[in-house]
Amino acid sequence: MMTTRRQIFLDNNATTPTDERVLEAMLPYFREVYANPGSKHLFGLTVEEKVAEAREQIAALIQAKPREIIFTSGATEAINLGIKGLTTSDKKHIITVDTEHRAVLDTCLYMESLGYDLTLLPVETDGRIDLASLEKAFRPDTFLVCIMMANNETGVLQSISEIARIVHERQALLLCDATQAVGKIPVDVKKLGIDLLPLSAHKFYGPKGTGALYCASHVKLTPQIHGGQQQNGVRSGTLNVPGIIGMAKASEIAAKEMAPEIERIGSLRNKLESALLTLDGTKLNGNKAHRLHTTTNISFSGVSSEQLIVALKNISVSSGSACQNVTSRPSHVLKSMGLTDEEALASIRFGLGRFTTEEDIDYAIGTISEAVETLRKKNQD
Ligand SMILES: *Cc1c(COP(=O)(O)O)cnc(C)c1O
Repeated sequence: MMTTRRQIFLDNNATTPTDERVLEAMLPYFREVYANPGSKHLFGLTVEEKVAEAREQIAALIQAKPREIIFTSGATEAINLGIKGLTTSDKKHIITVDTEHRAVLDTCLYMESLGYDLTLLPVETDGRIDLASLEKAFRPDTFLVCIMMANNETGVLQSISEIARIVHERQALLLCDATQAVGKIPVDVKKLGIDLLPLSAHKFYGPKGTGALYCASHVKLTPQIHGGQQQNGVRSGTLNVPGIIGMAKASEIAAKEMAPEIERIGSLRNKLESALLTLDGTKLNGNKAHRLHTTTNISFSGVSSEQLIVALKNISVSSGSACQNVTSRPSHVLKSMGLTDEEALASIRFGLGRFTTEEDIDYAIGTISEAVETLRKKNQD
């Protein structure tokens, strides 16, 4: 690395570094094993077999059947396919939530522009949805409900199995954006009752530009990308073999190391959070119990997150979603939870991960505490 100071990466909700073991597993698929898995010669068939094994490993991580996995370029594409692909229904009403990722919100808004009706549910101040208001939002023509598993800004978890029960009692389908949850906490699509679940490799130490849509076998999708009829014609295009192999390796590692990692990262997160909350004028955003162990979102009154991010230099944190890279605009997630513009603009998201160490956290606590104090003094002058 060119930098003299070590990079302390606390922005693992934006992306995660690729695990070395994942990279190693991918390299042969750039060098020697480069045949097109769609080719019918022996070379192509060996690659096709490797892709089939990878599909099994990825399916196993979420307890799906291999043929329920559609490979995509990431969660954004999987979300687009899951929502736009369902348009065969004569029903016209979609329900989603204010605090969803932009990929879900903007795809739903696009559906609205096509003539569908959209209900946007608010959240409670802790970031969770009120199940009674979800029940009330249904109409006879509701066909789709999009509710995420873990929020990318606050880590807040929704009660997915209860939500799935409500959705299915009313003959609708549940698309659950689990991009922040997969590979970090156990996700069982069958037990939870999820019909469509987008995921992304780069959020759990796999490569960027690779993801999947779990599509339960009872759900039929209209293709959104047409061409060579790969993946039963649902998503045409030559498969990203190195990416898929990498995502499979990332899935295998995640399954094996998940339990101890929840303990280790969770206690580092708690250490960081409780130390920062001892500072005056700080406030935790989001439900404390129903939350991803990797994430904390804290408001620091009297400083702007923009100032703080710049002041922290070699500590990478963010003010919200990386996909909404306008730090001067308050987060739609925090606003929906009732924060004022000023509070939302004074909030920082910390995302810990597999490569976060205790030294990182100790350094971050010291540096952030100092920076907050310095900036507050400066802002008062
Ligand atoms: C990162 C993320 C996405 C987008 O994933 P890409 O693979 O980068 O397209 C969607 N939803 C959530 C909750 C995310 O965290």
